[in-house]
Amino acid sequence: MTNKTKIINGKLFVPDQPVIPFIEGDGIGKDITGPSQRVLDAAVAKAYGDEKRLIWKEVLAGEKAYKETGNYLPQETLDAFKEHLVGIKGPLQTPVGEGIRSLNVALRQTLDLYVCLRPVRWFKGVPSPIRYPSMVDMHIFRENTEDIYAGIEYMAGNDKSKKFRDFLINEMGVDKIRFPESSSFGVKPISKDGSVRLTKAAIEYAILRKLPSVTIVHKGNIMKFTEGAFKNWSYDLAETEFKLQTFTWRQYEKIREEKGQLDADKALDEAKKDGKVIVKDCITDAFLQESLLHPWDHSVIATMNLNGDYISDQLAAMVGGIGISPGANINYQSGYAIFEATHGTAPNIAGTGKANPGSLILSGVMMLEYLGWDEAAEHVYDAMEHVFAKRKVTSDLHSQMEGATLLTTSEFADEIIKNM
Ligand code: NAD
Repeated sequence: MTNKTKIINGKLFVPDQPVIPFIEGDGIGKDITGPSQRVLDAAVAKAYGDEKRLIWKEVLAGEKAYKETGNYLPQETLDAFKEHLVGIKGPLQTPVGEGIRSLNVALRQTLDLYVCLRPVRWFKGVPSPIRYPSMVDMHIFRENTEDIYAGIEYMAGNDKSKKFRDFLINEMGVDKIRFPESSSFGVKPISKDGSVRLTKAAIEYAILRKLPSVTIVHKGNIMKFTEGAFKNWSYDLAETEFKLQTFTWRQYEKIREEKGQLDADKALDEAKKDGKVIVKDCITDAFLQESLLHPWDHSVIATMNLNGDYISDQLAAMVGGIGISPGANINYQSGYAIFEATHGTAPNIAGTGKANPGSLILSGVMMLEYLGWDEAAEHVYDAMEHVFAKRKVTSDLHSQMEGATLLTTSEFADEIIKNM
């Protein structure tokens, strides 16, 4: 019996004892990895007894890899993720110096992990700056490979920048650069292929989990051919490939124009009654307000790379911050998925027992769900809910919660296991 996870015709086949490559990570990575693995192992044991088990296989990246191999991201590490499809990682410090911009970016690019998935939910008892945190259940699908993150930028004054400026002015007839002599330039590639595969993943996720809506977040009013095109391609996809399972605001508008408000409202009500996913759109700046004021109106969010970056941090802050915000980078076509703590290496608290392992634990829970091990995932969610309700927390949350009991990283993990 193999213990390699495989994907065949888009369907994941998970053995009872899958090998899970893991990167411990730098800084607090060492503090949170062991405790997180203990929690996940306990949940799997509780759900399946001896029947299923995660086989952890450490692979190197970051400082530890550099010390042992002279390379920050050894080929064997990439090979292990390719071989086993699904893995998990702690935070990695961005190496100072030439060569690699970021190990995280290198991993995402090599495996073409085009979805950055960030579910955002609130645990009772966790301090929140918003009025109705219990209404927050949002799932961000951030495009991970395009946008200004492609890194096509030219610094003001250098040769490439001048060449680019001259091309724009002389060849393209551009006459709206306010200060042509001192401008830097950046290029924002947004493709139909990249947009459609992201939105497809978001809509399929909403359908599978019976979530009511997908909101396309964009700044298409200003960037018509990039962000605006993303919106239109996303709507096109919903109305063609998912026409039986979705109803879009664009369809609503069309009915309203042709037949009037009453008919449009009726069509929307019927779609909701039929359990269709409502696909809508929202301009980014309005969305940042909307998500604070009416979080319940947005269950899945499909957006481009830069918007997704801003939105992820705002939404994480609404439910308790980066210490408990999980994430994953996924390619739904190849099956490659790396689950990861969303915070950095927190060098200021590394080795002190202050780190909250919640982000990595919840990323592991997402991994269990991705593997189809939902029962084990539920055990962790339930236990964490109990622990937070008892106000037993690590130092990041302790300072914000009255009457809370302070636990170390390891004690917090033990408390979750005790409550399973
Ligand atoms: P950071 O997330 O490491 O720290 C920001 C603040 O949050 C610090 O005060 C830190 O103590 C606190 N914090 C972070 N995680 C915590 C946790 N689990 N529990 C309690 N408190 C926590 O961000 P930074 O200081 O900007 O970055 C440090 C390093 O991490 C940099 O080298 C950066 O490149 C890297 N980084 C890596 C990732 C990743 O691997 N995904 C993400 C962000 C930053």
